[in-house]
Amino acid sequence: MAKKGCVITWSNPQAITITGVVDEYADFSGLVSMAQKTLAVDLGGVTRVNSSGIRNWIQTILRNKIQIVLSNCSPVIVDQFSMIPEFIGKSGYVESFYGNFHCASCGYEYAHLFVLGRDVQAGHVRPLIALTQPCPRCPETMDFDHNPDVYFAFLKMVKPRQQAS
Ligand SMILES: [Zn+2]
Repeated sequence: MAKKGCVITWSNPQAITITGVVDEYADFSGLVSMAQKTLAVDLGGVTRVNSSGIRNWIQTILRNKIQIVLSNCSPVIVDQFSMIPEFIGKSGYVESFYGNFHCASCGYEYAHLFVLGRDVQAGHVRPLIALTQPCPRCPETMDFDHNPDVYFAFLKMVKPRQQAS
């Protein structure tokens, strides 16, 4: 039987996708080859994290001076950003992340992909799009399902993306 947990898939030599549970069994040792380099990390499939898994991750990134570019971050990841700024790393960048909208009237739920430079900006905690959106299922409006003051706070620490040289 396949062991559940954290699965790291290389989609190309500079990009990985992490899915599943990032806990004490998550093995990031394969990332040492990316020391001093830039690594794109897709976190869309991460369902749960714990403090041991996050600690492993941060140590691997900082020790190897890996510049990470995070994309498709799920809400469990965004919650970590505000609690543990080191998660993004010293020179890391967040490209995109999900935030949930919810219609209290009909129960419709929608995960919006916030893209930096389009919906939000590095260094700015206020999103560029409205946090109440018309519900596609009923005449009411959907509300943002997170506390925006907390959820977007990490954007203050994200520096504008450096131009690739
Ligand atoms: Zn609705």
